[in-house]
Amino acid sequence: MWQILRQAVRIGICPKSSAREESEPVLMSPAEVSDRQLQADLRAALGRALSIRVVDAGSCNGCELEINALSNPFYNMEGEGIHFVASPRHADLLLVTGPVTHNMAQALVDTWQAMPAPALVVAVGDCGCTGGIFGEEGASRGRVSAVIPVDAHVSGCPPRPSAILAAIRSAVQGVAGA
Ligand code: SF4
Repeated sequence: MWQILRQAVRIGICPKSSAREESEPVLMSPAEVSDRQLQADLRAALGRALSIRVVDAGSCNGCELEINALSNPFYNMEGEGIHFVASPRHADLLLVTGPVTHNMAQALVDTWQAMPAPALVVAVGDCGCTGGIFGEEGASRGRVSAVIPVDAHVSGCPPRPSAILAAIRSAVQGVAGA
């Protein structure tokens, strides 16, 4: 304690406000600029906030982690007017992860049918796009498009959050005719 006080007297205390004024301006990385432009394009195409429902049709949860990252301060998805909803009745767009298991197939169809038009669908990850490592056998029906119509695909195992945002924009721009 005394050592800390002696050091404070000797070298002084740097107040937070002056430290902030003296700091370098924050520069956004090219990826961050791209992401923010992506979000701006999304809002321009739809003309209002976008509500998203996520369905895990049988994933390993790797894709869910990347989807969750969209809500962190870096991607700031909710700050741009894009948010997740609990009910398909409130959703414009459905993100589907994983291969579709037989046990989830009907639930996925019911969810999609409960959505109001345009009921956009984005298949997320290699599993959602093709069935991935699980294929179309055993408990798996494979790709999402084998069960419901898909507007955009994003491959990767798992795909990066930026790629998921790009697929969301692609789906929205497709319906907006942009
Ligand atoms: S694409 Fe990869 S991360 Fe996503 S559910 Fe399939 S195995 Fe998991």
